[in-house]
Amino acid sequence: MKWDIRIVSLTSSKKLVNAVAEPKRPQKQSIKQLGPIELSANKVIVRVDFNVPMHNGIITDDSRIQAALPTINYLLGNNATVILISHFGRPKEGFCKQYSLAPISDRLAELLGQPVIMAPACTGNEVSQLIENSESQDVIVLENIRFEPEEQANGIGLAQQLAALGDLFVQDSFGTVHRNHASTAGIAQYLPSYAGLLLDKEITILSNAITSPKRPLVAIIGGSKVSSKLHVLVSLLEKVDTLVIGGAMVYTFLKAQGKSVGKSLCEDNQIELAKAFLAQIQTTTTKVIFPVDHRVVTEVSNDAVVSTVSSDNILENHIGVDIGSETVQLIQSELKTAETIIWNGPLGIFEIEQFSTGTKAIAQTLAHSNAVTIIGGGDSAAAIKQAGLSDQMTHISTGGGASLEFLSNRPLPGIDVLADHE
Ligand code: ADP
Ligand code: MG
Repeated sequence: MKWDIRIVSLTSSKKLVNAVAEPKRPQKQSIKQLGPIELSANKVIVRVDFNVPMHNGIITDDSRIQAALPTINYLLGNNATVILISHFGRPKEGFCKQYSLAPISDRLAELLGQPVIMAPACTGNEVSQLIENSESQDVIVLENIRFEPEEQANGIGLAQQLAALGDLFVQDSFGTVHRNHASTAGIAQYLPSYAGLLLDKEITILSNAITSPKRPLVAIIGGSKVSSKLHVLVSLLEKVDTLVIGGAMVYTFLKAQGKSVGKSLCEDNQIELAKAFLAQIQTTTTKVIFPVDHRVVTEVSNDAVVSTVSSDNILENHIGVDIGSETVQLIQSELKTAETIIWNGPLGIFEIEQFSTGTKAIAQTLAHSNAVTIIGGGDSAAAIKQAGLSDQMTHISTGGGASLEFLSNRPLPGIDVLADHE
């Protein structure tokens, strides 16, 4: 169904409005403002996101390493020594070969066309010595930061030990700026700290999209859970001209309206909040579009028989797995006039070919649109890649959770600690 809302006086105590006017995120100083005078012969610690997909020790997609190259090359070009910190996977504390950054450091060396020094750890005498003996234009990769017990607890001791290894800190891991860890936020309290080129690009594009977008601005929010994205919906409702909601979270909203959702994914503990959001929609002039039809199955499998039903006709044994063709057309007609489109969250179970129809159709529409198109979210980026359309988007954010927090103007510890732009 579609709300073209104009009304209303709402007195619900459950109103989900952002309680205070949102503070503007201050601009951060980037390394672009630093040149040879500040960088030459300095040891620059860069937090990068080398958390790449790997299968049997082979990197299956090196985009994240490639994304770090502009910053690394900029620093090397200004005669700095570059010390890289990253996490990889979810290891337990202590060294574990399976989670070593060694294969990543080898790939980095290939991409840079120069040797890269792989440190045996992140801290300790051997590492300090190695860095002390390094020269300008050397690249050193520290071992997986999550081998350190204090990393995720943002231990002061670890933050200080890391900071002691260099002269400057550069944040270039947008994918982890929503984490308050020693290598993402703690370290920046002890060193002059700046945004890297990748982070700077993310900040510029995402903040333009929400603070001064070319309008109409349309946001498409899908994915699996209301619980992980409701705050984003609330925040975007005030900023966008049209909000399109898809994916499994639709079923929590339908249930909140008293409709049957069959066996579709639904978060019963979010129903009250979903009701409050539906009431909040009535207080804005923002156009909100929910799916009008759904592709449903009775079992989630590759060869399931798919039928299409309207939102009022989901049966007890139905599982909603994708948006229907009428909804696709509805969204497409809305996107025709859009000047900026933000998309986060697939519109169906895109991992299964026959449930990826809606997601693919909308991806194609974005690819052929003249609007600024911004994709956030790990699964959304994967869906666009699967459709072979990555090159046709204006920007695919390297941060999943971080891009959501950014769009909803929430604190981002890894950005908030950096030096403000004067
Ligand atoms: P992103 O990583 O882009 O932010 P999410 O993690 O929020 O996206 O959601 C992605 C997941 O949502 C995918 O695994 C997809 O299968 C799932 N999803 C989308 N629509 C449905 C649906 N109708 N039923 C079940 N899961 C869904
Ligand atoms: Mg995801």
